[in-house]
Amino acid sequence: MENFSDKITVAKTAGFCFGVNRAIEIIEDLLSKGEKVFTLGPIIHNPQMVENLRERGVSIANDIGDVTGDAVLVIRSHGVDLKTIEQIENAGIRYVDATCPFVSKIHKIVDKASKNGEIVLIAGNKDHPEVLGIKGHCSGESYVFKDEDELRALAEKHPEITDKKVTVVSQTTHSKILLQNCYDNFLKKVFTNSTFFDTICLATAERQDEAIRLSQKSDLMIIIGGKQSSNTAKLRDVCIRNCPTYLVETADELPLDRIKGAQHIGVTAGASTPAYIIKEVLTTMAETINSNLDENFAEMLEESFKNANTNGKVVKGTVMRTTATEVYVDVGRKQFGLIELSDLTDDPAAKPDDIVKVGDELDLVILRTNDQEGLIYLSKKLAEIPKAWNELRAALADGTILEAPVTRVNNGGLNLSYKGVRVFVPRSHASLSRGDNLDELEKKTVRFKVIEINDEKKSIIGSVRNVLSDEKKALEDAFWASAEVGKHYTGTVKSLTSYGAFVDIGGVDGMIHISQLSWARIKAPSDVVSVGDTVDVYIKSLDPEKKKISLGYKDPDGNPWELLKNNYPIGTVVEGKVVNLTTFGAFVNILPSIDGLVHISQIALERIEKPADVLKVGETIKAVLTDVDFEKRRVSLSIRKLLEEEAAANEAEAKAALGDELTSDEAVEAAAEESAPVEESAPAAEESAE
Ligand code: SF4
Repeated sequence: MENFSDKITVAKTAGFCFGVNRAIEIIEDLLSKGEKVFTLGPIIHNPQMVENLRERGVSIANDIGDVTGDAVLVIRSHGVDLKTIEQIENAGIRYVDATCPFVSKIHKIVDKASKNGEIVLIAGNKDHPEVLGIKGHCSGESYVFKDEDELRALAEKHPEITDKKVTVVSQTTHSKILLQNCYDNFLKKVFTNSTFFDTICLATAERQDEAIRLSQKSDLMIIIGGKQSSNTAKLRDVCIRNCPTYLVETADELPLDRIKGAQHIGVTAGASTPAYIIKEVLTTMAETINSNLDENFAEMLEESFKNANTNGKVVKGTVMRTTATEVYVDVGRKQFGLIELSDLTDDPAAKPDDIVKVGDELDLVILRTNDQEGLIYLSKKLAEIPKAWNELRAALADGTILEAPVTRVNNGGLNLSYKGVRVFVPRSHASLSRGDNLDELEKKTVRFKVIEINDEKKSIIGSVRNVLSDEKKALEDAFWASAEVGKHYTGTVKSLTSYGAFVDIGGVDGMIHISQLSWARIKAPSDVVSVGDTVDVYIKSLDPEKKKISLGYKDPDGNPWELLKNNYPIGTVVEGKVVNLTTFGAFVNILPSIDGLVHISQIALERIEKPADVLKVGETIKAVLTDVDFEKRRVSLSIRKLLEEEAAANEAEAKAALGDELTSDEAVEAAAEESAPVEESAPAAEESAE
C-alpha cells in the first residue's frame, strides 16, 4: 500500500493487471505500425479506456462479420471459445490472440479433462465472456455454477454426476471467499471424485486480499473501475463488509461530502482501470481534502510493469501461494514471480510448503522474464549462495555441524548441496565403516563437518564420519560413566552370530549369549530375535577395560525352576518327552530347559539291561517327580513308582472285584439256603397234612 497523503492510502495492486496491460500493449503496438484494429468486444470493461481507444481508431467488432477491410482482429484477454477461433481462421481474418496466459492455462486444463472423459464444472458467472470462452474449450459435458446454492441445485438436478470424475476450475476473477466456501461446504463432500484447480488469478486474489486489509483500516473505501467489470465489483463486495464503500468510474462520481468527513480513505482500482483515471480520481480527492498529490503517482503505477534488463539482479519477494511444485511470489511488479521447486531447494524430498510459508519475505535472484506467460522466474537457491559460502567457512573454522541433502551417491562418495553449494564427501568420510551401503543415503539429509575448503578450485570437502564418530564417542563415554551390573536398557539387535546376539544399547554394543536368549533350548539366536528387533536387556557383567558387556535377556517370570518349585510338589505325576538315553537312565524334558533323570532302576517294575530296551528317544512318557535338588538343578523321576502305584491300584481293584464276586456267590448260596427249607418243609408240610 502506498501512502498517497496523510489521509489517503492507495492499494499497491490498484490498476491494470498483467493480462490487461499486455492486451493494451498489443493494441498500442499495432496502432504504432499503422494497422487498422478491431477488438472482438470491448477490450476491457472500462468505458473511458474503450472510448480513448476508439478515438484513436480502434473499432469494436461484436461479431466476426463486423471486421472490415484488411484489419487485424485482437482477441481480448478474456479469450474466446474454439469455435470462434475456427470461424476467424475460416474467414481469413488476420488476428492476434491477446488472451491472458492465465486464462489460456484454464483452456488447457478443461480441454485435457474433457478429452479424458471428465465432467467440467466452472465456478463463475455463466454470461461472462471468459466463462463462455472456457466452456467453449470443453469438448464434453460442462456446467457453470456461481455459488454454493447453484452448485447444490446442480447436484440435485444431476445427481448422476456427483460420483463421476469431475474437474473443477474457476473464472480467474471469481471471488476467492465464495469459491473457498463452495469447496469446503459442498464440493469436496458431495463431488467425491473431483479434482479442484485453483485458477483464480493471483492478481485478483492479491487485489482482493489487499482491498480487505485496506478496508479494515479505513473509514471509507473508494473503488475505481468500470461498472461492468467483474473484478472491480468483487473489490466493492469484499470491502463493503468493513466500511462504507463507493465504486466510481471517474472522478465525477466521487462522494465528495463523505470524502471530506472521512479520516482514513482507502483507494483501490480494478484490473482494467487505466492509471490516468486513477490519477484523476486521486487528484480530485486530494483537492477535496486539501491534501498534497504525489506528482509521480501515475508513473509509480506504470513502473511496476517495467522490465529493464534485470536478470541476475537480487530482489525481495513475498510468498503469495505455494503449489506442490512451485511458489508464487510478489516482487512488486505486475508480473508474478515464480520459483520452481528446483530453484527453491536441492532437497529432492522437500515440498515448497516445507521450505516457505505464505507471507515469508525472501531474497531472490531474477533468472528470466517471460512476458508471454506473465511470469518472472526466480531462484531462492542462487540468492543464498554467498550466504551459504560464509556459513561453510565459519563451520570449517569452528567445527559446526551442518545439514544438507545428498544429491548424488557415486563410487567416490557423496555429493551434498548445502543451500545450493556443492559439498563433496569422500567415501572414506561418508560413514563410520567402509563397508556401509551408501546408496541408502541418496536423497536423505545428512549432517556433516567441513574439513577442507579450496578457494582456487572452489571445492568444499565434508565429512559425515567425523560427526558420527564424535557422537559415538560421546555416547560411549556417557554409557561407561553410568553402566553397572543389573541396569536395564532398551536396545536394538544389530547382528546375530551362532553364539549370540549383539545389541546396541545406546552407542555401545553388548552381547546376549545364546544360553541367555531363552529358557527353552534353541538351535540359533535367530530362533528368538531378528536384526532390528527392540529388546529389553540388563547388564549381566561388564569389563570396562576390554569394553566388553555381557547382557541378560531372559524374562525372570518365565524361569522354569521357579515354575517347578511353585507348581510341582514331590509326588506330582509329570509328562515329558524322552530326550536322551544313557546306560544309567533316561532324560525326560518336563519343562523348558529342565530335564529330569529316570534312573535305570526306576524305568520298569522288573530289572532291565538298558533303558533303550524299554524307552525310545522322542517318546512321551509319564513319571512321578521323586526328588528335586534346586541347588544342583537335578530332578529325579520314577516311572517304576508310577507303575507300582498302578499295579497296586490294579490289584486293589481286582481284589475289590473279587470281593464283589464272593458276595454275589454267597447271596446265591443264601438264596439257595433260603429256598431249601421251603422244599424241605414241603415234605414236612406234606408230613403235617398227612
Ligand atoms: S485478472 Fe488475471 S487472468 Fe484476468 S487478465 Fe488480469 S492477469 Fe489475466
